[in-house]
Amino acid sequence: MKPSIRKLRKFFRLEAERGYDNKAVMGGLANILSSWEMDAREDQLPEQTIQAVISRLRDYHRLSEESREVALKGIWQRVTRETGTETEDQQAAESGTPSPQESPPQAAVEEPKAPAAEIAEPPPVEKTQEPTPEKPPPPPDLDFDTPVTAIKGVGEKKKKALERMGVHTVNDLLFTYPRRHDDYSKLKPIGSLWYGDDVTIIGSVESVNIRSVRNGKMKIVEALVTDKSGAIRATWFNQPWMEGQLKKAKQIVLSGLVEQYLGKLVMNSPEWEPLSEKQLHTNRIVPVYPLTKDITQKWLRKIIHDTVEKYAPHLPDPLPDQVQNEIDLPSLSTAVQEIHFPDSEHALHQARQRLAFDELFLLQMGVLKQKWQWESRQGTVFDPPDEWLQNQLNHLPFQLTGAQKKALGQIQEDLQSGKPMNRLLQGDVGSGKTVLAALAAMIVIREGAQSALIAPTSILAEQHYQSLSTLLTGYEDSLQANQISLLIGATPENEKEAIRERLAKGEIKLIIGTHALLQDPVIFQDLKLAIIDEQHRFGVEQRGTLRQKGENPHLLVMTATPIPRSLALTIYGDLELTVIDELPPGRQPVETHVLYPSEVERAYSLIRGQVDLGNQAFLIYPLIEESDKIEGKAAVEEFTRLQENVFSNYKLGLLHGQLTAAEKDQVMTRFRNKEIQILISTTVVEVGMDIPNATVMLVQGAHRFGLAQLHQLRGRVGRGEKKSYCILIPGSAEEVENQRLQAMVETNDGFILAEKDLTIRGPGQFLGTRQSGYTELKLASITDLKMIEQARKHASTLFRQDPELSQESHQALANAVKQFWTRQSTGDIS
Ligand code: ADP
Ligand code: MG
Repeated sequence: MKPSIRKLRKFFRLEAERGYDNKAVMGGLANILSSWEMDAREDQLPEQTIQAVISRLRDYHRLSEESREVALKGIWQRVTRETGTETEDQQAAESGTPSPQESPPQAAVEEPKAPAAEIAEPPPVEKTQEPTPEKPPPPPDLDFDTPVTAIKGVGEKKKKALERMGVHTVNDLLFTYPRRHDDYSKLKPIGSLWYGDDVTIIGSVESVNIRSVRNGKMKIVEALVTDKSGAIRATWFNQPWMEGQLKKAKQIVLSGLVEQYLGKLVMNSPEWEPLSEKQLHTNRIVPVYPLTKDITQKWLRKIIHDTVEKYAPHLPDPLPDQVQNEIDLPSLSTAVQEIHFPDSEHALHQARQRLAFDELFLLQMGVLKQKWQWESRQGTVFDPPDEWLQNQLNHLPFQLTGAQKKALGQIQEDLQSGKPMNRLLQGDVGSGKTVLAALAAMIVIREGAQSALIAPTSILAEQHYQSLSTLLTGYEDSLQANQISLLIGATPENEKEAIRERLAKGEIKLIIGTHALLQDPVIFQDLKLAIIDEQHRFGVEQRGTLRQKGENPHLLVMTATPIPRSLALTIYGDLELTVIDELPPGRQPVETHVLYPSEVERAYSLIRGQVDLGNQAFLIYPLIEESDKIEGKAAVEEFTRLQENVFSNYKLGLLHGQLTAAEKDQVMTRFRNKEIQILISTTVVEVGMDIPNATVMLVQGAHRFGLAQLHQLRGRVGRGEKKSYCILIPGSAEEVENQRLQAMVETNDGFILAEKDLTIRGPGQFLGTRQSGYTELKLASITDLKMIEQARKHASTLFRQDPELSQESHQALANAVKQFWTRQSTGDIS
């Protein structure tokens, strides 16, 4: 046994003998740490073990006696396991002879004989595949799902308040993470504050006054706070009661942003609390929690402290040992303790990493489970003869690009695999995804089965209907025109009825539609391929609904939103990925400019010039009004103005959300037939529109759009071989430097833009509300590719071993996965 480990055992035994009163060492167990750490390094114990011991013992004094016992036993087991010490013990025990290292003479003298102390002989750990729990099972009286009122100090009123924060149970309290921590060892003296600093300071309240502004409509409480180095003013608006509180407080802690007002440094509405001795002396780093009405920082901190102390040491760890050993992060129990009351920045960081890992891991477990469930079903085999496929290809108006051929190959493989296809086809705008959907549909239809293609807007569905009708009819082995049909919300009810009937009979082979297709009465005779276009506009549920319309149909999902790999692995983690990374030949990058609003005439003359050459143009106005009605009106007014004053010699068309489907259809047809030269439109054209003759995209109010949207809009032009232009005009001159707009100028590559978009806007907005069901990611970043890959790797290994998580040692994990995904699906979709 290595000296450092022997030392630990010695102290642990003593501590056990004394009933865990933290007096085995003078000043408390934590006092052995500095010398022990050096010994441990000398003995070359694994760093993770050293860190675990340190973080456990540092906290030791804070634990109750029963928790201390558990903590020491846990840490002892961990130490022996991680250093391989238990094998020595075990061998010794088995052979009946102590190994020479085990008991050198002086150790025998030094070590108190403590046969009664349970800690002395940790149970031998068997070297089998079965992971060993680090801690004994929680005592029966600890129920993590027990209501918060189980905590001393939480009555009915506080319970209500906590509920407003989504906190119902003890478990919820444990996982209510601090918003941030204040490190009182790094306080800044007031005298050295700078404008723009985000700081925590401590000072005395020198004076407090309250004044009314705006005819008494608003009250401002102002405090002058000083320390030896200087003074700063802090103000709070419309919280008159603070006057009294501040006056009582004397010494306070302030946190917030240092701003400047009339040349003086001030803090506006900083967070504050009266200073208590405990903050300064007990916890160098204190947690700061999100609050709600009727809950103060101090109160919540105490409640969480008590909860953590009592419950956290007994938290079962959902991660199987094999995973835990590899990721080299603290146990769940340690992590929960450290995220609330960290011993050091390092410990806090480790705790965050561990909790973040859990989130991603549980996410991947769920995602992979979906994948696995789907893959374990039977899929119908579709394997057309080569000549037949060649004949189909020969009838296309163009040759497939290399990337399209490769994608087709993968789709074919999927269709003949015997498992349901589950593929995401990702290709930049204009890369030619539609034709692949068409070919896949034909392969399935050849055998008499049905295919469905669903698009997010009726305009897009109609366009698909038209282009697929042209593409797939009129040659040998082609479809008959009446075998393709369109079903959208605006389809008259009697026609819908007829379509449903023919779908149920199997007379319609390819149906194209919108959400209307997902509705209940739509029944297929034999749906074998479900295609979803512009997937990012749909939610995961809709994918499921469409699937359920057939018996294990193949699924092809298409999107033009280039998803960074980190996201692809997460939100589309249950899908196989094909990337079309090549545009059809002859495409030129769209020349993009950002103009000042005052330069709009330049854009108009570009449009006139292009239209004079026989090309067409889009003119987009953002939807800024709340109601469709007003939007419609605004669009109509703008249309009239442009027709009369700007483009009086040209044929203009108008498209907006207030038009009926038939009217929209008419406008689009006229635009496609070149009867309209310039199309004024709201963003209804945003996705998928394919008008190869259009060469100008002018976007007004461009600063209002996200990058993905701008890229989509720009993708409406440059689809033919002609040189195309995209002009972006923001609402004001200052917005010209807008980073999104500049990014558009810099690159045409949707992938680069998507990465930018993700960093600029963050994942929630990037994904849009429909896909942001990942509400359970509190600490993990959905862009942390490295951690996501790690989580996915471990999750898939586990899946290979125990897909149903039925093994005894995986029960904690199975529960955690279940909980995570229940919360996920009931989580608010705000
Ligand atoms: P997206 O991937 O954005 O859905 P589409 O499928 O609408 O793109 O295709 C964009 C345009 O490119 C269409 O006009 C289509 O006919 C054309 N196209 C697709 N594939 C090719 C190809 N291999 N060669 C030439 N044009 C193609
Ligand atoms: Mg498309």
